[in-house]
Amino acid sequence: MTTQAAGEIWFLTGSQGLYGEDTLRQVAAQSQQIAAELGQSDEIGPRIVWKPVLTEPDAIQRICQEASIAPECVGVIAWMHTFSPAKMWIAGLDALRAPLLHLHTQANVALPWADIDMDFMNLNQAAHGDREFGFMQTRLGVARTTVAGHVSDPDVCRRIGVWSRAAVGYAAMRSLKLARFGDNMRGVAVTEGDKVEAQHRFGVSVNTYAVNELVLAVDEVSDADVDALVKEYDDVYQVASDLRVGGERHESLRYAARIEAGLRGFLTDGGFGAFTTNFEDLGGLRQLPGLAVQRLMADGYGFGGEGDWKTSLLLATVKRMGAGRAGGTSFMEDYTYHLVPGEERILGAHMLEVCPTISGGVPTVEIHPLGIGGREDPVRLVFDADPGPAVVVGLADLGDRFRLVANEIDVVPPDEPLPSLPVARAVWKPRPNLRTSAESWLMAGAPHHTVLSSAVGTEELTDLAEMTRTELLVIDADTTTRQLTKEIRWNQAYYRLASPL
Ligand code: MN
Repeated sequence: MTTQAAGEIWFLTGSQGLYGEDTLRQVAAQSQQIAAELGQSDEIGPRIVWKPVLTEPDAIQRICQEASIAPECVGVIAWMHTFSPAKMWIAGLDALRAPLLHLHTQANVALPWADIDMDFMNLNQAAHGDREFGFMQTRLGVARTTVAGHVSDPDVCRRIGVWSRAAVGYAAMRSLKLARFGDNMRGVAVTEGDKVEAQHRFGVSVNTYAVNELVLAVDEVSDADVDALVKEYDDVYQVASDLRVGGERHESLRYAARIEAGLRGFLTDGGFGAFTTNFEDLGGLRQLPGLAVQRLMADGYGFGGEGDWKTSLLLATVKRMGAGRAGGTSFMEDYTYHLVPGEERILGAHMLEVCPTISGGVPTVEIHPLGIGGREDPVRLVFDADPGPAVVVGLADLGDRFRLVANEIDVVPPDEPLPSLPVARAVWKPRPNLRTSAESWLMAGAPHHTVLSSAVGTEELTDLAEMTRTELLVIDADTTTRQLTKEIRWNQAYYRLASPL
């Protein structure tokens, strides 16, 4: 998958003509300095692009329109250095489609107590200039993230970095093309949803392709390409002896490689960044794609099993948000429980499709029978997920809106080795505990397919939810079922009131 550049964040500074050229020159110099400091932060991926100080409504509207259509601009940071009467911002904020971060900062850290005079006061008045701007954003109902503090505070850059990751994910989401091979698993409810609304809200286009179009691509893969992949598997993983060259099941590994090359080619040719499969609809495919899906996920593709396009688009987005960070992100399913009192854990897995970016070690390549699907035994990567803090997040379609639900979790090692379990898996303790987590999740109507990420947390997801104006319920160490049940009820009223007729 081609990794696009992280894009640009435009840095806008608000002021007005009242102060005269001298003051505006100082405003420009100081805001360039702030933008430069943000640009040097390792926390912020996209390039910070400083724009000339804004003092007129026309210029404000123009830059907001440009930011909304410039493909390289993933978001806008706005700071009212002095005082920028906010009626000037109405048309601009109304036109702004790019994610907005309101940075409430000032040039100096310490007040120059001994020297402070009215010139200093006139120059450094973000303390009330930004309040004027905050009022207008609230008055117009502008979705945004607000960060207060001096840029020399590492937490300010960290939070801007968090927001910028959400902005990069949102940009990827808006241009995402998702290919479904087959439709939804028969009878399953939660994987259904409104694809028109998804395209309107998130920008993603979701379309179905006949699985036999994929089979054609798989069959056309050259033996040389299969050879190259088989060698790569041997270099990167521990390949089971029966799958190796000369092994009695080597042909199955070659067919798995053929699926990978064919599927990758199909996705590349079509410009797709995410896909789904359905084990009920495999056409001429001889194996359910396991290894291929796992490796494509590792390269950043979104995936959902059983036709689950919502989890697939969420996975592609969260992967973009976490790019370059330690940890990984995978398709996941709550599978089965360990309910021993005091030791409660969730074992998550799927039939085959867990992404090796969450692996704690070198995965093994194995072949085992699969009870469903009625095809040849599929090849898959098997591993345990790396222990550490993570989040699981699901996307449900409630009929009148989408709802994101996130649960902060701690991935732990399995209590004992799992020698008979032939799939990759993650074992975790949900916060605050399994009972509250599960009751909250069920009350929220959240899905059984999720995205598990140790690279992205609830802060990034909160910013993404704000950008997409999507409901987000967070289940964390502070959650009680009673409180969350109330939040669900309040949100039910809020989102209905807030949505246009
Ligand atoms: Mn499933």
